[in-house]
Amino acid sequence: MKAGLEVHQQLATGKLFCACPSEFSEEVRGSFARRLRAASGENRNVDPAAALAASRRLVYRYETGPSNCLVEMDEEPPHPINPDALDTALTLALLLGAHPLDEIVVMRKIVVDGSNTSGFQRTALVAVDGHLELRGKRYSIPTICLEEDAARKVSETPSEIVYRLDRLGIPLVEIATGPEITEGREGREVAEELGALLRATRAVRRGIGTIREDVNVSIEGGHRIEIKGVQELRKIQQYVDFEVERQRVLLAVREVLRARSARPPTEPPIDVSSLFDEVASGPLSAGARKGGVVLALALPGFDQQLRSPAGTEERLGRELADQARSVGLRGLLHSDELPGYGLEPVHVARVREALRLAPTDAFVLVTDRDRARAELALLRVGARAAAALEGIPGETRDPLPTGRTRYSRPLPGRDRMYPETDIPPIAVTADRLARLAAALPERPSALRSRLAGDYGLPSEIAGQLVGGGFAETFETLAKRGRPAPLVARLLTQDLPSVELPSGAVEGFEPSVDLLDELLRASESGRFAKEGIPAVLTALAAGALSLDAALARAGLSGLSDAELGAIVDRVVEKNRALIEERGEAAFQPLMGDVMREVRGRRDGKVIADALRRALVRVRGAA
Ligand SMILES: [Zn+2]
Repeated sequence: MKAGLEVHQQLATGKLFCACPSEFSEEVRGSFARRLRAASGENRNVDPAAALAASRRLVYRYETGPSNCLVEMDEEPPHPINPDALDTALTLALLLGAHPLDEIVVMRKIVVDGSNTSGFQRTALVAVDGHLELRGKRYSIPTICLEEDAARKVSETPSEIVYRLDRLGIPLVEIATGPEITEGREGREVAEELGALLRATRAVRRGIGTIREDVNVSIEGGHRIEIKGVQELRKIQQYVDFEVERQRVLLAVREVLRARSARPPTEPPIDVSSLFDEVASGPLSAGARKGGVVLALALPGFDQQLRSPAGTEERLGRELADQARSVGLRGLLHSDELPGYGLEPVHVARVREALRLAPTDAFVLVTDRDRARAELALLRVGARAAAALEGIPGETRDPLPTGRTRYSRPLPGRDRMYPETDIPPIAVTADRLARLAAALPERPSALRSRLAGDYGLPSEIAGQLVGGGFAETFETLAKRGRPAPLVARLLTQDLPSVELPSGAVEGFEPSVDLLDELLRASESGRFAKEGIPAVLTALAAGALSLDAALARAGLSGLSDAELGAIVDRVVEKNRALIEERGEAAFQPLMGDVMREVRGRRDGKVIADALRRALVRVRGAA
């Protein structure tokens, strides 16, 4: 297995080609619609990805708001490149030992999903030939680019996709690694290290979705697959591992198909609508079809090769269904999963008869109200089945929350860049580089050893603080006098394990001041530090203040006086024991007090109160 990453990080510098802020907004002030057509370039070729997208004849609707101007609407030429964003990209180049180019030339890269109003994304190569050292291994960084983010998709129907323009134009630094990653785990580690390096510049946006990874994976005998837009770094490992599994399953299927001389489908699909007239349930029933046509396609030699082998969910059937979905169908049915879905053995037998299938042949069924679209779907299914005899087709795939991926579109052609004629090339001067080199931020490796040294943290914990992006918060709290081990535990363990309320769309990111208040309250003994996760959960669930969170977590209301009263009562009840055992009475009494206090005060505060009471009682005796 070989894998490489492309890390895309949003910058907080303001947009790349206009003066709008790098901020999202839910305020919609208006909207407009556009369409995209595929046209041939100077080499007379039409990009296959562009041709497929155009064949869907979609309308793209763009919502405008306070974070955009005429530039995002493509009604005004781009302004000169944002100098802060370029400085940040150059700083990263220096940190990665890369060679900045003498001159930055902005290019247009064709984008076929409507996510840019212009139909292209502006991108500029900033530096080449860098490297990253991690755990004794060297990863090449062939390119560092600066580009504009795309518009944000807000909804989608089979005929229209709605985008919001607030995200369009936010600067992205793109760092590509070479294909030197050989395990899923390594992919996550490299991504985290690059994330830490990006944060070191202090010019990046924070939160879910502000860093996105494209993961390129291939295995021996397979093909390069691009998994696009992974937002959760810790899932990279899963995506890589499942992609390896997918390619292995499909390569094994190919061997079976070749051994039994399976052939690409050659017969055109046939209309089998009338065979299902009395089907009462499932996707082919009259109720579900609403007058739609049912088409069947024979797959010669594919019987039992469309379903998942034991121990995996990957299967050729899903790849075929993805093709049907790519033209707007909801999916397909294939013979390995039938009878089922409302179909009886008799229906299967009728389809096999109508297609005149041999026992080793398989078939697929699709239904749609638009016959032309159903035919297009089967054309693509047939092409994908033919490709299964060759091996793994090169694809762009979408990450799913399960850790698996879904077909998105063909890998784009290589000839899709041309110069942006509205922006003159920018010379990168020696003065500029010298100024940036003199003010380089602390590298993650240096930051890790400094945190370990200055605050006495185990190196593993220091690594988690830096890798998780908590270093700055940690230092702020530690410098305010909060105990370093407690802060480190809060940030690396308690905070990441907070359970978000169901339906939460954004992560839980309490302010430094709130965390400070929380830690102070625990230190002063208002509640036990074991109660911190419960308080954080209450805050994540919407408690508006620390007091409200304490009340919600059932941790409020035990004052020093109340604690003293409990201690006194326990001591009073056990006078005989104290006289008999002396200091040794402490342990059993501590147990009694703890049972009553139930974590509402810190154990150390309770122990101190009990010791004082014991000294008092024994002194009096
Ligand atoms: Zn703007």
